Amino acid sequence: MSVSRETRILTVANQKGGVGKTTTTVNMAAALAQEGHTVLVIDLDPQGNASTALDVPHHAGTADIYTCLVQDAPLTSVTVKVAAFDGLYCAPATIDLAGAEIELVSLVARENRLKRAISDYLVHFEQTEGRPLDYIFIDCPPSLGLLTVNAFVAATEVLIPIQCEYYALEGLGQLLKTVELIRGQLNPVLKVSTIILTMYDARTRLAQDVVAEVREHFGDIVLQTLVPRSVRVSEAPSRHQTILQYDPNSPGALSYREAARELSQKVFA
Ligand code: ADP
Ligand code: MG
Repeated sequence: MSVSRETRILTVANQKGGVGKTTTTVNMAAALAQEGHTVLVIDLDPQGNASTALDVPHHAGTADIYTCLVQDAPLTSVTVKVAAFDGLYCAPATIDLAGAEIELVSLVARENRLKRAISDYLVHFEQTEGRPLDYIFIDCPPSLGLLTVNAFVAATEVLIPIQCEYYALEGLGQLLKTVELIRGQLNPVLKVSTIILTMYDARTRLAQDVVAEVREHFGDIVLQTLVPRSVRVSEAPSRHQTILQYDPNSPGALSYREAARELSQKVFA
C-alpha cells in the first residue's frame, strides 16, 4: 500500500520559547479531531509539554519519540490514543529526548530519521485503521537544532506561531532562512503555509501594531483568527487538558476551533 499523499504534516516551529507553539499544537490538533479528522501529535520537545496537555504518560522510562529517532523503534510502538478525543493520537517526549540533539549528530541520515519513522507509520495507520491519517502536528523545541531540522525534513508545511508582543518578529528572519535552506537541500516541498497570531490583547496598541505588521509582511498565510491572551488558556495544561476541555465556550477555545477550521479549509495551488 502506498502512503496517502493527503496527510498534511505541519511542523510548529519558532526558535523563541513561550510564543505558543505547544498551546497551538495541542488545541489545533484536538479541534481537528473533534471535527472528525484523524490527527497525530508528535512531541519533539524534551520538556514534553504537549504530552502533558494531552494527558499522555511521559515519565522517564516511557517509550517515546527518542527511541524512534535514535534507536530506530517504529513510531507505532510509542504512539498512544489520546483518551479525551476520538481520532487523536500522540507520540510523547520524555527527558531522554534532551540527549537526542547530540546523539543524532553521529547517526546515519541524521536529518531524515523522523521522516522515515513517519512514512512507515502512515502506511501502518491506513492498514490498521482503514482510513488515512489526515494531519500530523510536530511540536518543536525552542531551537533550530537537529530535532527541528528533522521536523522540517519530515513536514509538508511549517506553522509559525507569533506572539503579539514587542520583539515578536525578532528571529523570524533566521527561521525563514533555515526553512529556505531545508527546502533547497533536503525537502523541496516544504513551505511556510500558516502563521497564527497568539496571545493577542485587544486593549493594547502594541498588539494591534504587531498584527498589522505581520499581516502586511506575510499576507494571506496569516490566519484571520487571533488567539486572545487568556488566563484560561494558560491554566488548562495544569489540569492535563486542552482549552477545548477545560473551558469549551471560552474565547480561547472558540479561537482555536476557528483557527483549525481556517487551516482545514486552506487550499493549495
Ligand atoms: P512554546 O511552546 O512556544 O514555548 P507555550 O504554548 O508553552 O509556548 O506557551 C507559553 C506559555 O504561555 C505557557 O505557559 C502557556 O500556557 C501560555 N499561553 C499560551 N497561549 C496563551 C494564551 N493565548 N493566553 C495566555 N497564555 C497563553
Ligand atoms: Mg513548547
